[in-house]
Amino acid sequence: MKVVRQEIVVNGRRYQWMDRPIVLVCIDGCEPDYISQALQAGQTPYLRGLVEKGTSILVDSAMPSFTNPNNLSIVTGVSPAVHGICGNYFYDRETKTEVMMDDPRYLRVTTVLAKFADSGARVAVVTAKDKLCRLLGHKMRGICFSAEKADRATLSVNGIENVLRLVGMPLPSVYSAELSEFVMAAGTKLLDTVRPDLTYLSTSDYIQHKFAPGTPQANIFYAMIDRFLAELDAHGVTVAVTGDHGMNPKTDAFGQPNVVYLQDRLDEWFGIGKTHVILPITDPYVLHHGALGSFATVYTEAGLSSVAERIKTIPGIKLVLDRREACQRFELPSDRIGDLVVVSERLWVIGTSVARHDLSQLDKPLRSHGGFSEQQVPLLMNRETCGLSNEKRYRNYDILDLSLNYVV
Ligand SMILES: [Zn+2]
Repeated sequence: MKVVRQEIVVNGRRYQWMDRPIVLVCIDGCEPDYISQALQAGQTPYLRGLVEKGTSILVDSAMPSFTNPNNLSIVTGVSPAVHGICGNYFYDRETKTEVMMDDPRYLRVTTVLAKFADSGARVAVVTAKDKLCRLLGHKMRGICFSAEKADRATLSVNGIENVLRLVGMPLPSVYSAELSEFVMAAGTKLLDTVRPDLTYLSTSDYIQHKFAPGTPQANIFYAMIDRFLAELDAHGVTVAVTGDHGMNPKTDAFGQPNVVYLQDRLDEWFGIGKTHVILPITDPYVLHHGALGSFATVYTEAGLSSVAERIKTIPGIKLVLDRREACQRFELPSDRIGDLVVVSERLWVIGTSVARHDLSQLDKPLRSHGGFSEQQVPLLMNRETCGLSNEKRYRNYDILDLSLNYVV
């Protein structure tokens, strides 16, 4: 007889109470090929087992395929149209300023994590970077800290202290593979100690921005992830893994970046101050991608259709949509998107002006994300599922639904 478990409803979706602790892992920049290459190289024995015995599907991330919109979609179970976070910046027409959207006050809904915590579950969140931690832990009772500022975690703010001692690792650099290793190690130590009912671990894409799938550095990174996943599994928990977005080279055959400097083009065609290009990937940690991604939004005082038609002629541009079309197709919040949405081709990125991007810090050929060429990510679980539809286009933000409602 099937045991009827308590359910909670969050943002219109129902979630059964967990039958055992659950650990969700969001591997930042997890282009599916990273796993298949590491698997073929024999570096990820645990993941190989999941492909054979658990659940393994490909899913689409939310657009734009950036970190914050997707992490927020995963923990809220809804698209950016509903939760409101569609990038790191939007443009305020009134004040003519770029507004940073990484503050919890821009989040429009509650998270599934917070709701479980309110209903009595022990919940823990560990992120690589600190900014994301504040968004994910918004109004959530429980443990929430970042690897970046693990040394500063306090009981009153983060629900935990002495994190470095607990994890047994020194504070990692924000630009390192160790930042992600710290997140994974913290997840296992939390299971050893507090044993949360629901844990969310979110790594950084530092390695994926630098190294292609199948390279020794990428395989070493996934071997590290694999070891920790096996360790988590050994605690008798549901392990569910997905990515926030994929990752692709953004270069020509010689490894030189393929950049459309969109603001420069528009200034030349329509005059300075007539259009405003926003790159929602821009964040304080730009060293590894130079603030270049495959998605931009344009606010314009010049004629909409003439601007759109001109942008479409630029080599490297895949798609130009007006706000209504873009919000419909990509499930975006219309008040935080410009008049046009521009997506580049797989091997291209969009910049503003040459002078505003410092590419001197790029020590490897540019790799980035943001377009629909980086939408596909894996979704893996250590348990089999029943009742999944072959027709449905599953999303990475269905992971809580799948891991709570469909596992057998
Ligand atoms: Zn990311």
